[in-house]
Amino acid sequence: MPLSVGAPRLLLRRLREVMAERESAQARLDKVVVLVASNMVAEVCSLYLRRRDTSLELFATEGLNPEAVHNTHLKAGEGLVGLIAEHGEPMQFADAQTHPAFSYRPETGEEVYHSFLGVPILRAGHTIGVLTVQNRTQRHYSDEEVEALQTTAMVIAEMIASGGLAVSEEGGQEARREQSARFTGVTISEGVALGHVVLHEPRIVVTKLIAEDVEFERRRLAQAIDELTGMIDGMLERGDLQRAGEHREVLEAFRMFAHDRGWRRRLDEALLTGLTAEAAVQRVRNDTRARMLRQIDPYARERLHDIDDLSNRLLRVLAGGVGTAAAGNLPQDTILIARTMGPAELLDYDRQRLRGLVLEEGGAASHVAIVARALGIAAISQAKGVLDAVEAGDAAIVDAEGGELHVRPTPEVVAAYADKVRFRARRQAQYAALRNVPAVTLDGERVSLNINAGLVFDLPHLDQSGADGIGLFRTELQFMIASTFPRLEQQTRIYKAILDAAGERPVTFRSLDVGGDKVLPYFRVNKEENPALGWRAIRMALDRPALFRTQVRALLRAAHGRELRIMLPMIGDVAELTAARALIDREVTILKRHGRLEPRKLLVGAMIEVPALLFQLDRVLPLADFASVGSNDLMQFLFATDRGNMLVADRFDALNPAGLMALRVIVEAAARHDVPLNLCGEMAGKPLEAMALIGLGFRSISMAPASVGPVKAMVLSLDRSDLWVRLQELLACKSTSVREELKSYAAEKGVQI
Ligand code: PEP
Ligand code: MG
Repeated sequence: MPLSVGAPRLLLRRLREVMAERESAQARLDKVVVLVASNMVAEVCSLYLRRRDTSLELFATEGLNPEAVHNTHLKAGEGLVGLIAEHGEPMQFADAQTHPAFSYRPETGEEVYHSFLGVPILRAGHTIGVLTVQNRTQRHYSDEEVEALQTTAMVIAEMIASGGLAVSEEGGQEARREQSARFTGVTISEGVALGHVVLHEPRIVVTKLIAEDVEFERRRLAQAIDELTGMIDGMLERGDLQRAGEHREVLEAFRMFAHDRGWRRRLDEALLTGLTAEAAVQRVRNDTRARMLRQIDPYARERLHDIDDLSNRLLRVLAGGVGTAAAGNLPQDTILIARTMGPAELLDYDRQRLRGLVLEEGGAASHVAIVARALGIAAISQAKGVLDAVEAGDAAIVDAEGGELHVRPTPEVVAAYADKVRFRARRQAQYAALRNVPAVTLDGERVSLNINAGLVFDLPHLDQSGADGIGLFRTELQFMIASTFPRLEQQTRIYKAILDAAGERPVTFRSLDVGGDKVLPYFRVNKEENPALGWRAIRMALDRPALFRTQVRALLRAAHGRELRIMLPMIGDVAELTAARALIDREVTILKRHGRLEPRKLLVGAMIEVPALLFQLDRVLPLADFASVGSNDLMQFLFATDRGNMLVADRFDALNPAGLMALRVIVEAAARHDVPLNLCGEMAGKPLEAMALIGLGFRSISMAPASVGPVKAMVLSLDRSDLWVRLQELLACKSTSVREELKSYAAEKGVQI
């Protein structure tokens, strides 16, 4: 017998009354099953909840033997109830007992019931229980009935989650929430952090589930969807993506789903059962999440992920435009978790409270990763599935040495990591003690250790790390966090502050390296097929000289009689270097004409990161005052592996002989032309890689501030000429990475790596 149209709403109203009663949880659950059974004209309604051991326990029943309550347990996957829990979706059977999965439990007395409908009770996509109805006759349950039962299941789930129904200490949700979980990812900023989870995009807890006025809720939802689509369209039109760390593809997918009829229909159906707008969004989101968790096809999973994200945003619009967690009260030991994030968004957080960062997406070379390193917080990325498994406030440990995240860790894990943190602190103290010790190898070679910087908050690192100078100042970071092009005066102020802070220590300013994946929110560029090979860096500077010249002018003014070092990124041939130099010379002439003080010394250098330059070194180097190897780009181009694509980024090791031989060619050419040489890619900050670089002949390298200590400890324990001999042998005979051989070398010779 199908439900009448008003029945689901009536059921919801009654449910609300039951939930509001001041009775024990058990008494309320007992009433819920009676209500559902009578409302759906079913002889049986039963509620099973998942326990800590993952079995499903019969918690309440109308129609089955009351003695079975709390005595019937089904193992994971056992019986039709187990099957529904496993699949996380509604199932019905006209003749349940003939189904191969049917599990006969004599204590329940259910053998007389033929029809069976069960729906999962879902929380954050996970099944925490199953709600069933049964009838004696063989019958088909209508879509409306399935929908009504699902809605009831959702109400029960929300009540459990919000603590309104403390069913049992061992209740399913409690059990899941208490289970510790471990995720692996890729380290993007080294460190170990213990703290508590903050979700960058807070989840809205839906408290009001049942609508007073369905039409009113429909209007609210329609308005919210309009507002959300307007926001997405606006962002796409303005190209205002970078600040929010948005990917155009994701927003485009959002736009597609926001107009998706199926999604809207499901929302509408949920509303018709009598839910509030928020609860309807949550209902559809729960189903989506459940489907997502079961998806094997990564593409389909990703799309479902997008719908899940979209629902989250819609909930935030309905809640009145709740922003990101940055604006809220953060715990002192925040472990920030997000799917993706832009560098500027990370900078919105109070640094004093940030301990760790975990992202589901984004490579180690992404901008947010660079900012995380600059902030010195432990960060990992590519931690898939984390958002499905955490709640705000969960205890968490980010191990950005091993690339792991522990959520709700056991006391043993906490103790082990507390030890690790103490050990790291001791090591940091040892490094700090080396701060004023010059980096000299055992055989007397002085190595210049510099930091990479790009933001004003990097400046204290110069003193703290004891570095010799700033080997790479990525000027584009300032541009990336601004909302419009920084004007001449603004740029001058920043560059001056940096030179002031550095004092006598040299600072190498790299001219704007934007384009490719480094997008400026306010600067439109055409979409490119291969952005890393596209219109970027020096290419853009030469095509738009006004931009470049403004920057050079600001640098010249900031230097005001001091030494100025300007480094040009992505130089591909001699002509690019000479053209850029001519523009710089013109600015010097203008400076003089205006009677301003010239730099005491102006040095113009080239980055060596385009492989073609390897074959023009003898022509380019004589025209450069210094050179610096951008090994991140050089290796990505040399091995043809996209540095931001996790599927290939690790495919070739920078310690592959091909890479090292390319570096050796550069070292030899720089020596021939007596041009000072530095290397400022990420490999310089890793002690083993840095050891190889010094072995090859680099005397100056530049790295994230936190790496200076460990790299200096390595330098102080290294006999550079001995390593040089070993390296030559290795490069002569090996054709794959020499990583293991170098590790053995370090162990054998006592080099601290
Ligand atoms: C490099 O390419 O190695 C480099 C230092 O520059 P960036 O990482 O900013 O491209
Ligand atoms: Mg580069």
